[in-house]
Amino acid sequence: MGSSSELTYRGHDDETPIPTTTTTTTTTTKLLDSYSPKPHKQWLPLSSVSRPMRYILREQRLVFILIGIVLATLFFTIIPSSNTPKRFNYDPIIPDPYFPSESTRMVHRVVYENKGGFGVGGKVPLGLKRKGLRIVVTGGAGFVGSHLVDRLMARGDSVIVVDNFFTGRKENVMHHFGNPRFELIRHDVVEPLLLEVDQIYHLACPASPVHYKFNPVKTIISFSSSVYKTNVVGTLNMLGLAKRVGARFLLTSTSEVYGDPLQHPQVETYWGNVNPIGVRSCYDEGKRTAETLTMDYHRGAGVEVRIARIFNTYGPRMCIDDGRVVSNFVAQALRKEPLTVYGDGKQTRSFQYVSDLVEGLMRLMEGEHVGPFNLGNPGEFTMLELAQVVQETIDPNAKIEFRPNTEDDPHKRKPDISKAKELLNWEPTVPLRKGLPLMVSDFRQRVFGDHSESGSASDNTKSTA
Ligand code: NAD
Ligand code: UDP
Ligand code: UDP
Repeated sequence: MGSSSELTYRGHDDETPIPTTTTTTTTTTKLLDSYSPKPHKQWLPLSSVSRPMRYILREQRLVFILIGIVLATLFFTIIPSSNTPKRFNYDPIIPDPYFPSESTRMVHRVVYENKGGFGVGGKVPLGLKRKGLRIVVTGGAGFVGSHLVDRLMARGDSVIVVDNFFTGRKENVMHHFGNPRFELIRHDVVEPLLLEVDQIYHLACPASPVHYKFNPVKTIISFSSSVYKTNVVGTLNMLGLAKRVGARFLLTSTSEVYGDPLQHPQVETYWGNVNPIGVRSCYDEGKRTAETLTMDYHRGAGVEVRIARIFNTYGPRMCIDDGRVVSNFVAQALRKEPLTVYGDGKQTRSFQYVSDLVEGLMRLMEGEHVGPFNLGNPGEFTMLELAQVVQETIDPNAKIEFRPNTEDDPHKRKPDISKAKELLNWEPTVPLRKGLPLMVSDFRQRVFGDHSESGSASDNTKSTA
């Protein structure tokens, strides 16, 4: 009978409890009368609560649960982001010896973060920490790319480096291995790639004459044209990726799009003077068509794009034997070899330190303007003057040796950066005589054999002059 009693008490609590009965038939009848599909648990002493309240507590449990979930979500998102105890030790801003002064860099960061223009991430409400973006850097194991990666990582973003190591080195990014916000993918950008990201910095391309002349067809393949779509898939693939996921895309173009310029200094509106069939054409024309394609995707597919035209840049982690003039002169002076000046040495270039460039690239990416923007240092030097600065910095006794010049070598180059100054609030801060010593200490270490450690952050600290 005990079981009968239990069943009898399943009736609504406002109904009079049915007394236990003596015959099975009566019990069954009473059971049917008092049947309710769901048992009602007494969570509260319900007699003490008013009737409407009791109804709400009983029937709207789901609503309470939802309110609870919402409150908990709010609590766990707001509280940890405002008084963040750091869980990983990867994130602190490592003093970067390649940046001429930590304070300069910090000022940049603060200005940059206060602007609120976090591109895809949008504005950050006061008191809330900015949410990290997911960013792809193609060519991120190279010279410029690896410095950019350092800055993005320090800012708290999640970074995926895509590189085929044609001219880049794992050592340049090794110090991020083990950080859960960092990934390195060995991949050739001429192959399609599926990723989910917010921003794409597209740097992948052999950038020195020695490398691009070594494999000219591959170079133009990396930088694509809308006309020769089937052959030129590097930039195309990254634009296709940007289009699919709605990411912002930044192309690192070059001052070479101006060719051997007939206008000096070069303004972005100048269309250039480029030989379409020369030995440099695979690079110059490749970049020009990459710009075309970028603008086509912007206009035609609504992809958010940015174009930087980079002028000669130097700094630590440059390829030692890439044939570019600054790396050549520095390595030669360190090795006590003569500095090889091509032609009469009167051709000019403007040399930009890598931290200035990285700052410019990030401002461009986060800003509102498509470009193209010249990013370069307007200080103009002949190659003989550069050799002199290298002598002063490394070895006053270094000899100069003249060599025949290369084909189609531009006679002069100097950026007009008025547009970047006005619209990105950017200009270089590191003059050649200040930047060169920072590069020399890194080169000294690598030239004299300490290859295993040259790329890591801690070793960079050691290498700083
Ligand atoms: P870099 O050679 O050091 O870096 C290029 C990186 O791209 C390397 O890591 C290389 O392995 C990678 N790469 C090349 N082809 C690839 C491919 N098909 N798929 C995947 N990865 C590939 O050169 P950098 O000086 O760091 O130049 C970076 C970008 O800036 C380049 O696009 C270059 O054209 C541009 N740029 C540089 C300068 C300069 O003075 N450094 C001047 C103008 C433009
Ligand atoms: N693509 C890619 N990753 C993506 C999306 C596209 O690599 O996430 C490549 C794709 O293989 C194609 C190129 O980008 O070759 C251009 O893509 P898009 O969709 O613009 O052009 P379509 O494929 O229609 O020619
Ligand atoms: N150059 C030089 N000696 C070298 C390497 C280059 O005098 O050992 C010259 C070269 O002829 C050119 C300038 O330096 O006029 C810059 O060359 P680099 O290859 O660095 O850059 P780009 O020509 O692409 O501007």
